[in-house]
Amino acid sequence: PYQTGWNRYPDPRQKELKALIAPIKGVKPENIFLGNGSDEAIDLIFRIFCIPGKDNVVAIDPSYGMYAVSADINDIEVRSVRLREDFSVPVEDLLAACDENTKAIFLCSPNNPSGNATPNEVIFDILGRFNGIVVVDEAYIDFCSVPSLLPSLEKYPNLIVLQTFSKARGLAALRLGLAFAQPYTIKVMSMVKYPYNINASTQQLAKEALARPIDSQVKEIVAQRARVAGELGKFSCVKKVYPSEANFILVKFDDADVMYAHLISYGIIVRNRNKVHGCAGCLRITVGLPEENDLLIKALKEYEEGNIRR
Ligand code: PMP
Repeated sequence: PYQTGWNRYPDPRQKELKALIAPIKGVKPENIFLGNGSDEAIDLIFRIFCIPGKDNVVAIDPSYGMYAVSADINDIEVRSVRLREDFSVPVEDLLAACDENTKAIFLCSPNNPSGNATPNEVIFDILGRFNGIVVVDEAYIDFCSVPSLLPSLEKYPNLIVLQTFSKARGLAALRLGLAFAQPYTIKVMSMVKYPYNINASTQQLAKEALARPIDSQVKEIVAQRARVAGELGKFSCVKKVYPSEANFILVKFDDADVMYAHLISYGIIVRNRNKVHGCAGCLRITVGLPEENDLLIKALKEYEEGNIRR
């Protein structure tokens, strides 16, 4: 009974938080599941829709690593379907990989690590032709010129859209992910989750965060993305700058491993995707503050002039 500020359990249904999120996203609270990061929603999808050791899911490759990690932990087979060389989705290959035990298809748009977005019509085509769950991970949607699929939720009972507070909202440490779907799917996800999966401080801090607009920061990141992409394209050590709809850019270098070490010496940590399917020679560089991007460009200039740090 003594007040510590935290002695009462948090709202297991996160009613107040969902009531704030719903109008911002143009959905009803019954369309929203909140998880301990989108990673919790990903794990729940396997636990709810797939029978271990029997069912499978189909996922695009390369994409976010957690789909395969979560599937492995749940003993669910992942059938990886390679994206085309330009990282577009080969719909026929995706559908051909499915059989009667395929319970879900995982898509990610904009995709991590390639940065490209899939046109909505392509996803509608898949939703209409696959008789199972289609997960579309929109973690990076705020940086993207292709609109979210949220307005199509009512039309497609098999659609689950994932979003997160970790990217454009800059709140990765809060651990708050969102899944949007029709009410029945949300109900089942809510029944399977741990009762108090979103702790009281996360609920409180998220409510406060929603009062702060992120538009100007998102705008600046999108502008910096264009600037960094343009600057990188001028270096001869850069072999290709992939078009990006996210807050990172996939860049092919003459020697990705040497460049990776070089950048670390400047305190610039990027993702080395050299060993990932379709990404040979590539680093995934997150767009930073203007001065951080300046440092990146300076580091590349030094590299280009032969001052390579190891
Ligand atoms: N989806 C994608 C595509 C991601 O890249 C990431 C983070 N790297 C996540 C989901 C994870 O989001 P969260 O922090 O909400 O678990």
